[in-house]
Amino acid sequence: MRGNRGYRTFTISCALVFMALITCLSGCTAVREWSSNVYAGGVITEPAIQNSEPATPIKVDPKAKPTLKEEPIPPIEEESAPPSKDKQDTRKLVALTFDDGPDNNYTSDIMDILKEYKVHATFFVVGLQVVKYPEMAKRIVDEGHTIGNHSWSHKDLTKLTSIARDEEINKTQQAIKEATGIVPELMRAPYGAISDAVLKSIHNENMKHVYWTVDTRDWAGTAVADMHENVLANTDVGGIILMHSFGGRRNAIAHTIKLLPSLIEDLTAKGYEFVTVDELIEADQAYASIVK
Ligand code: ZN
Repeated sequence: MRGNRGYRTFTISCALVFMALITCLSGCTAVREWSSNVYAGGVITEPAIQNSEPATPIKVDPKAKPTLKEEPIPPIEEESAPPSKDKQDTRKLVALTFDDGPDNNYTSDIMDILKEYKVHATFFVVGLQVVKYPEMAKRIVDEGHTIGNHSWSHKDLTKLTSIARDEEINKTQQAIKEATGIVPELMRAPYGAISDAVLKSIHNENMKHVYWTVDTRDWAGTAVADMHENVLANTDVGGIILMHSFGGRRNAIAHTIKLLPSLIEDLTAKGYEFVTVDELIEADQAYASIVK
């Protein structure tokens, strides 16, 4: 019994060893590949690519940290560049303003000169003049200028009751809208006279009040040379120059007409560019103390 069992065990063991040998020598692909491809005739060659299927792209986790220890890369320092010039308006802007019109005489001459020099200005008009010369008010808007409210009858608004003050403002808004289709967003109170109450009335109409930085005193008949010297000496970036297109002393505005071309030429030569008051505000160059 013991002998038979031992024989049987030996036979099974032999069979297992034999099978293992067969498997190793003929079935093991790793051995075969290594022998036929890697080591051929004593020359080590590159293993041939066996897989004919298209290689699956290796997915790289962009968040994965590299497994190899590498020298830490110093963070790239962001350039301390100045603020983008696109956002910063570096032009030297000034605004020409003409009050008290429109009329059928000087307002037209002024617009002819502005057109010749391709300059846009701001006209603060009086309601009573707008209803007299609605076509001229329309021309102001049509030629690309800004039209603003300068009250109905040029009264000092600080001396009026709130009802009278609101009427001076609202009637003019209405007249300008009827003549031009535009509802003004800027106002200059007659004489630049404002109080908290006047400002409140103006703001209630969704307008800003526009004062000036340089007064030509053209209404007083100031000599052209004196006005020219004053403006050239006192104009800075964000400047708002006060002139008139109607009214004042006899022939006073004729001086304004004479002054205008040389003023445009000489301020242009100093690097200034002319814009409307709303453009000056848009470019963030208007003084907070001047435009409220
Ligand atoms: Zn005025």
